[in-house]
Amino acid sequence: DSGRLPRLKIAMQKSGRLSDDTLKLLRACGVRFNLHEARLMAHAEDWPLDLLRVRDDDIPGLVMDGAADLGVVGENVLEEARLEREVAGSPAEYRLLRPLDFGHCRLSIAGRAEEDRAAPLDGKRIATSYPYLLRSWLKREGIQATPVMLTGSVEVAPRAGLADAICDLVSTGGTLEANGLREREVIFRSQAQLIARPGALDAGQQATLERLLRRLDGVQQARESKYIMLHAPVGRLEEVTALLPAAHPTVLRLGHTDAEVAVHAVSTENLFWETMEDLRELGCSNILVLPIEKML
Ligand code: ATP
Ligand code: MG
Repeated sequence: DSGRLPRLKIAMQKSGRLSDDTLKLLRACGVRFNLHEARLMAHAEDWPLDLLRVRDDDIPGLVMDGAADLGVVGENVLEEARLEREVAGSPAEYRLLRPLDFGHCRLSIAGRAEEDRAAPLDGKRIATSYPYLLRSWLKREGIQATPVMLTGSVEVAPRAGLADAICDLVSTGGTLEANGLREREVIFRSQAQLIARPGALDAGQQATLERLLRRLDGVQQARESKYIMLHAPVGRLEEVTALLPAAHPTVLRLGHTDAEVAVHAVSTENLFWETMEDLRELGCSNILVLPIEKML
């Protein structure tokens, strides 16, 4: 009876680049929510889990202050908040639980496209929404530049004469190019992380978390795994299994012939085109590589 267990509060981005992937992942773990656009809180249907839907900038603080038990947030936002809180003397601790393999991006310094990429940054003004990450990188590199804080439209700052360069998130580089900018240096790489508040959870919450983590691991393992099926000539079976990136393939008789067998295998990696071609050279046919949905 989930109604009686102490509930676990998860902070996630309400609407933005991380929202869909976060919900998709929770759904893949069998957690279902009734979301109301206007509400901050959503309750899971069969789990003692609540969703707190907030701006991503608020997530690290909510978790570090213990207002939320868990959070899903980009490492860029997390590390920026940690540095800021450390300077301010506020609580800045959290536990990293799992990298989530979405929200991949990099925080990069970019200058005007027509400028020499190697020209020193000393004395330049760099517009950014990540002044703490930028300052810590500048300090590490021994560069004397001035961060200019902007919460948005960072990429137009050089054209507007507000800065000489920018330090902003990049995933494809399209936005930079559209603004006449060129990437110079990656200062931080990021993906979404599942984090937990510092301190022990209550026993019921801990049990819920462990169940969630087991399912998360199952989802991630399944995502990386493939189900491979093929028909192989009996005489080449050993060579065929040696090519497969799987430990113990299942070998099955075929109804219509004794010269060939069916080989099924769960592989923890994808099958490369090259391997598939090698398998065909050995006389294999009907080579199928299928995604796996769940694994336990
Ligand atoms: P909010 O309203 O919640 O504050 P936001 O505008 O700050 O939203 P988004 O643009 O939705 O944030 O990005 C959220 C996170 O997605 C980023 O902090 C980063 O971790 C990740 N991300 C992945 N790719 C990109 C990208 N190309 N540009 C910006 N963020 C990206
Ligand atoms: Mg934000």
